Amino acid sequence: MAQETMQFKTEVNKLLELMIHSLYSHKEIFLRELISNASDAVDKLRFESIRNDALAEGDADYKIKIILDKDAGTLTVSDNGIGMTKNEIVEALGTIAHSGTKEFIKALESKDVKDNPEMIGQFGVGFYSSFIVADKVTVLSRKAGEDKSVGIIWESEADGNFTVDRQEKTTKGTDVILQLKEDCKEYLEDFEIKDIVKKYSDYINYPVVMDTVKDDVVEEEILNSMKAIWLKDKTEVSNEEYSEFYKHVTRDFTEPLKTIHYRAEGTTEFSVLLYIPKTAPMNILYQDFKSGPALYVHRVQIMENCEELVPTYLRFIKGVVDSSDLPLNVSREILQNNKMIEIIRKNITKKVLETLKTMKEKEYDTYVDFYEQFGRVLKEGLHFDFSRKEEIADLLLVQSTATENGKYTTLSDYMSRMKTEQNEIYYITGKNRKELENSPYLETLKEKDLEVLFMTDEIDDIVISSLMKYKDKQFKSILKGDIDLQSKEEKEESTKTFGKLTDKLKDMLGEKVSEVRLSARLKNSPCVLVSGDGDIDPQMEAMLKAMGQNVPARQKILELNPDHELVVALNAEFEKNAESAKVTDIGELLYTQALILEGNMPEDIGRFTNLLTKVLTENVK
Ligand code: ADP
Repeated sequence: MAQETMQFKTEVNKLLELMIHSLYSHKEIFLRELISNASDAVDKLRFESIRNDALAEGDADYKIKIILDKDAGTLTVSDNGIGMTKNEIVEALGTIAHSGTKEFIKALESKDVKDNPEMIGQFGVGFYSSFIVADKVTVLSRKAGEDKSVGIIWESEADGNFTVDRQEKTTKGTDVILQLKEDCKEYLEDFEIKDIVKKYSDYINYPVVMDTVKDDVVEEEILNSMKAIWLKDKTEVSNEEYSEFYKHVTRDFTEPLKTIHYRAEGTTEFSVLLYIPKTAPMNILYQDFKSGPALYVHRVQIMENCEELVPTYLRFIKGVVDSSDLPLNVSREILQNNKMIEIIRKNITKKVLETLKTMKEKEYDTYVDFYEQFGRVLKEGLHFDFSRKEEIADLLLVQSTATENGKYTTLSDYMSRMKTEQNEIYYITGKNRKELENSPYLETLKEKDLEVLFMTDEIDDIVISSLMKYKDKQFKSILKGDIDLQSKEEKEESTKTFGKLTDKLKDMLGEKVSEVRLSARLKNSPCVLVSGDGDIDPQMEAMLKAMGQNVPARQKILELNPDHELVVALNAEFEKNAESAKVTDIGELLYTQALILEGNMPEDIGRFTNLLTKVLTENVK
């Protein structure tokens, strides 16, 4: 094979350029990234050699070596892990953009990131961070278990191209050789490297070593303590250690929002070190999101993301679970129906929900931060985890007509404010608070000082229907069905006055509506359309339509406001002349207006505008 020159993917080029600029003030992190990659490579080999010990090639003395060469101006990070084949190297380092690269670039370009470089942490910078400190990067790698004499050499100066070729390499694993930039020569100093390793990579599971000279003798010094911090006692771990380990497992730059560290003893024993991140990853609502903490068995990493360890509504949880009772060669299939895993998942779920509860009670502001990032995900639990829905309901934060904009209340606080005669918890769904505040559906409830919850996540209607009630009170969407806000007498009185008009309008509108009735919920608006109690929520309907789903048209109920001037005048006109064209024209306009209010288009725009013009003309004459 002759040397081949290949081009980076456009995104990679862009990424490199932006990263070099925005991360310059954090440039030392390149070493953490390279050590993390080396450690992952050793994890992989160690795991695979459980099944096939030939892969270890007789060298299971795993370590990560840092070699400083002052004369050549190079820093090398060398591992004896799994290594890469030609295809793997070409894919991993240049041609295939990682999922999330586009978002990453967008974030790098945004003003936010320039002001808060730590935000970049959400994405993980990985191998490419080498180019922050190096003019040229060379990767020499040989895949474990393959041809024991030749490997692959990959080289790039971040100028849009990289080259690959074959090159002699007898040992398995990967060497990453950085030709340091003129102004990055500090990374050739022993003490500097020792500091950085201690700071960022102390917990790495394998020795990170460097040759140092002591009394004229060269010796290999281990730079990290290698303590699996999740196995340590809480009292032995400092906040810095927790935070650095968090950054290692998540590739995040920011501090974690919350750390949960404990050891479970009982029928099965396991250690848990979990984190709640500060910000939600961009793809947390997408299918490709990798859910679950890492699974270790006796300090050996079995899986980087073990989704069986947490329910999906807690998928934001990161960290490590180490069990001593699982077999080392545990497979995905085994995990899926494993009693032990089930016990661990239940235990973690309980612990995380308890932690959130305490956070909400004792550190409310932090809890709000958490909720604004992950509340949407947590809520899924109301639908999926029947056994814990009350517990999750207690964790909900909701805005309402009684809270200031941007401030939250809880269901139990809502209940404490309920009026004695109030039997239901009122809520309204919609896009955002502002839009909901002006909703005609809210008018009378507002006037009667009945609190209404604003539910603005698109899944709210589903989760509220799964919840059905809180304590002994049913939830009631004020967009749907009847609302009992009037006395029997009041109802009878208005039915007597307007009954004929509503019958007439129903006749006229025919199949368009299932019913025309008088409304108790309106104050300033003449009319609205409402759905039946069991019908799909308008917000849900809009979402399904946007997803291209076929939503069958359902008949709605047209509600008229008997206190509105227009309705009163219309009734008077109708009583004067039951055949009046004004009544049918205005009746149709009222219906269309209600349709528009719901976010729909008039069924026949031409007819609507003609009618509107006609009525306006009559009015101006
Ligand atoms: P990440 O580690 O987040 O996947 P990187 O850009 O750091 O992203 O690395 C890309 C890929 O390159 C890794 O997923 C891995 O497959 C491969 N890789 C990087 N360094 C090594 C190494 N030392 N040994 C083996 N594979 C490596």
